[in-house]
Amino acid sequence: MRTEFVRSVSCVTRVIRATVLHAFSISAVARATMAMATVMMSAIVLTAFTTVAHAQAVAARDDGVTALRFGAVVDARGRSTRDAVVIIRADTIVRVGTGAGVIPAGARVVDLRPLTAIPGMIDVHTHMTYWRDKNLPASAAPRSKDSVVMAAAENARHTLETGVTTVRDLGASNYADIAMRDSINKGAMIGPRMFVAGYGLSKLTAPPRAGTPPGAPRGRVLDTIEIKEAIKAQVDAGADWIKMYGSTGSFQNVTGVQTFTDVEMRVATETAHRFGKPMAIHSYGDSGGRAAMRAGAESVEHPAGLDDATIAEFVKRGTVYVPTIDHNRFYAENAAILGYNAKQVAELDSFRLYNLETARRAHKAGVKFAMGSDAVYWMFGENTRELAWFVKAGMTPTQALATATTNAAALLRQPTKLGQIAPGFYADIVAVDGDPSRDIEVVINKVRWVMKGGRVVVDKRQ
Ligand SMILES: [Zn+2]
Repeated sequence: MRTEFVRSVSCVTRVIRATVLHAFSISAVARATMAMATVMMSAIVLTAFTTVAHAQAVAARDDGVTALRFGAVVDARGRSTRDAVVIIRADTIVRVGTGAGVIPAGARVVDLRPLTAIPGMIDVHTHMTYWRDKNLPASAAPRSKDSVVMAAAENARHTLETGVTTVRDLGASNYADIAMRDSINKGAMIGPRMFVAGYGLSKLTAPPRAGTPPGAPRGRVLDTIEIKEAIKAQVDAGADWIKMYGSTGSFQNVTGVQTFTDVEMRVATETAHRFGKPMAIHSYGDSGGRAAMRAGAESVEHPAGLDDATIAEFVKRGTVYVPTIDHNRFYAENAAILGYNAKQVAELDSFRLYNLETARRAHKAGVKFAMGSDAVYWMFGENTRELAWFVKAGMTPTQALATATTNAAALLRQPTKLGQIAPGFYADIVAVDGDPSRDIEVVINKVRWVMKGGRVVVDKRQ
């Protein structure tokens, strides 16, 4: 853990240096560092404070308007604007134009030519609080909420490095996800914007033993009464979304047996909607996926093997499909570390192909996709590898990118704030080296610079 903290401080220091160069909202970074430093209680903190003082001095001279110059800006429809200039005030884009002539007098200019700008991406399925060190046994992972949040800051940072500036986090214990979301929003932690679900609802198959505290607050529920209680508990805790596990299957287990009944899924979705919260339902299998869609869930996670009639109904209802193909690649590749046997690896591999085949049919039929990595552990940093599978499923690179920008923003009910480089949107911008409309690998592997809400959070240009 100690080394993690040291790394956090040095990262923050790096970010501050980048910020001194480009000077965006420095006081927020300073606040973030101060807040982190308070908890860290280490000699390194002094270095951070010194840098903060310097950063504040620079901030005093900032007039608040920044012009970013790019070789091109590519939008979600694949249209490219050459010699593009994006004007930022505070955390918002105020204008997008071309050529030096549109740069206002006195604006700070950041020259990112010849890089290409794409919108900050959105990963609609993460588990940010599932932190594990690859080199340590699972038992070494932190348990207390505070320790989990501190450790998960690393996952947040790795996510930003992929160009993902917003996530929907679908399931966490002890409301660590809510703590992370709030810390990031206050500037006390550096990470993507988070839309969170608290505890995912899972089906209890037998009543708890006498004396067991009620299951609802932890998401384990027996019937429709407990479903309603559990949803209210998540809403009261501050969840943005409700997550339900509608089938078996996770990690090395790829079974997709429906758990909640069709009626229970419908009651859950209606309850969530009554609280004004959208619903995401997990189902590895086709029957759970169909039930989730018919229940009115806004998105269905992982559903492999959907038949053509069900796919047609997804299209008709506009239900968003989040296949999460790549996470089974991650599990299979890391089987030795995770302790999965050869049979499980074979199952993960064949499920991935089955999932890809469903995605191919769904795309052909016109289903709306959003990119979700289902990242856990050290998969953060690989969040956008899902896009390569989408291209294999038949999308153009531009269509794939839209699943992580405009489609995802619509799912998150942020269509005028997230997923585009346009006036009024958050200044969430990613600079990549190459043409993302020709090659999706540019988006996945060639992110050089990331701005979130007007602040530079990643700079890998040197
Ligand atoms: Zn998940």
